[in-house]
Amino acid sequence: MGKILEHFSKKLIRKNGVNTPDNWVVERGYEARNIIFNKNIVLKALVPVGKRGKAGAVKFPETAEEAEQQTEELLKMTVHNFPVNQVLVEEKLNIKEEWYVSISIDSQEQKPVIMVTTYGGMDIEDLAKDHPEKIATLHVDPFDGIHPFQIKELWSSLGVTGKVLVRVTEVLSKLYDIFWKYDCFILEVNPLALTKDGNIVVADSVMGVDDTALYRQSELAGMVEVGSERSWRPLTELEKQMIEVNDADYRGTARYTEIEGGDIGFMCGGGGGSLVSFDALTRHGGKPANYTETGGNPPVEKVYGLTKGILSKEEVKGLYVAHNISNNTQIDVMAAGIIKALNELKIDPVTFPVVVREAGVNDEKGRKIFEDANVTYYGEEITIEQAALKMVKRMEEVYGWQS
Ligand code: GDP
Ligand code: MN
Repeated sequence: MGKILEHFSKKLIRKNGVNTPDNWVVERGYEARNIIFNKNIVLKALVPVGKRGKAGAVKFPETAEEAEQQTEELLKMTVHNFPVNQVLVEEKLNIKEEWYVSISIDSQEQKPVIMVTTYGGMDIEDLAKDHPEKIATLHVDPFDGIHPFQIKELWSSLGVTGKVLVRVTEVLSKLYDIFWKYDCFILEVNPLALTKDGNIVVADSVMGVDDTALYRQSELAGMVEVGSERSWRPLTELEKQMIEVNDADYRGTARYTEIEGGDIGFMCGGGGGSLVSFDALTRHGGKPANYTETGGNPPVEKVYGLTKGILSKEEVKGLYVAHNISNNTQIDVMAAGIIKALNELKIDPVTFPVVVREAGVNDEKGRKIFEDANVTYYGEEITIEQAALKMVKRMEEVYGWQS
């Protein structure tokens, strides 16, 4: 999934006929000062995570001095691991009520699901726990789409009537169209603000799209934060680089995640086998510096690019390649990519531990490539557990006892 920052998602929402506040993105305090000169404003840290209000990252300046000072304060903050580089200045709404709308995919039902409540603003998870009756839910048949009468019934079930019912039905209908149009995984509006002058406005929006559908979404160009599904922290430079390695060729997939404090480059493949290998390595005292899972038979260039990336980290003092056995990966292709990277970086497996345990398609060819390069290679003659121990032992042989 790729996330879209708030100002971009609001642009898309507004373009498709739903009200949003006017907004500006600033990077300096004085820019906010110039805006508050004309209108009341709200300042929000522009980061791809929610719950900014609670984190003190939504501010309501009253004066020009406050606007400047509070913008500067926000720009010094880190919100839920994300440094604030930009601030969203928004026209302040006079909010009467805060409602909530989310549209997402129910993976069990395999259908879009709409959830709404007139108790928005707060943590929806708490409301779902304490007062589930205040949330109305509607599954949408993806082939049939959604009919206005269904949306009307949804809001009616929460006691909404009259003109507001008519208007909020129209708003939700458009939000669903937006969700569908941009191949969203999630579109959450919290709050959907009912203003004192009777408007219904998207005051905050979270939008996440299916990044494998971007090829048909030219409107979203430049708006999607690549790799942002790992949203508990920003991607590191090397992680971004590895996304490029992965995207450069459509064949095979690879995910690279850096781990602080490790010294073993870890390459794995095959879902559950990868996790078991990782656990086995740590259980025997190995410290992985990353988690790189490949699948779908990546070509030599991709394996080479990944290996080079993994080894480019100074702290990495060994390489462990651990695949499960019932795997469609071509072992000779993996071998060619890994050895190409080792050669290019002039890494000698005699003094730098490299242990491989994988078997499957073309494994005899693979074994030869590895062994010719002095790499310790095992096939199915040893278990995942034993292989992990071999890697840790190699590290000990070369570097002495690992704490
Ligand atoms: P979040 O905490 O990351 O979800 O950020 P929001 O943009 O939702 O802001 C948090 C809260 O600030 C909202 O639930 C509102 O209560 C309040 N808020 C945000 N924008 C406005 C505004 O324009 N006017 C008023 N009165 N309150 C606002
Ligand atoms: Mn919000």
